[in-house]
Amino acid sequence: MSVLDEVIAANEAYAREFGDKGELALPPARHFAILTCMDARLDPAKYAGLSEGDAHVIRNAGGRASDDAIRSLVISYKLLGTSEWFVIHHSDCGMEFFTNEVMADLLDKSLETAALGENGFHDVGAGPGSSEGHNIDWLTIADRNLSVVEDVERIRDHPLVPAGIAIYGYVYDVRTGQLIEVPEATAAGAPV
Ligand code: ZN
Repeated sequence: MSVLDEVIAANEAYAREFGDKGELALPPARHFAILTCMDARLDPAKYAGLSEGDAHVIRNAGGRASDDAIRSLVISYKLLGTSEWFVIHHSDCGMEFFTNEVMADLLDKSLETAALGENGFHDVGAGPGSSEGHNIDWLTIADRNLSVVEDVERIRDHPLVPAGIAIYGYVYDVRTGQLIEVPEATAAGAPV
């Protein structure tokens, strides 16, 4: 069965058991949002105990406070009433394994998937590539805890984010499933 067939079959089973979830309200019932990484090992619904309708989950590579993540968070509170936000990065994040320069150089050479070896990513595919990768800030992570602090501070300091919203900073441990607080981040994100 292809991935497409698997997803359609899984959805048919899900929809059969959908029950009264069609009656859920648009605003998140528990009034909070999570910004986290797209890593396939992270399941925010499981690690944070979410059901449909509970919370907003905003995901990107690294769980970084990009302009677009902040766009979503502002909509989350301004139109849909969330008042507590979590920034959750994680151990063994792929964003720790390259830099802007490495990514742009890889894309320069080839648009095919690179390989990860002991010395980081390297190209195994054919060219041509594209120089467009030099025009993107890939928001890589050099220091895991520091990246959480920086993202909480960036959100806290944004002119469209009200002072009363609490922002918590955590790292998810992919080996244990535990959320580990980054106290400096949570302190920076405290409501004022
Ligand atoms: Zn990640």
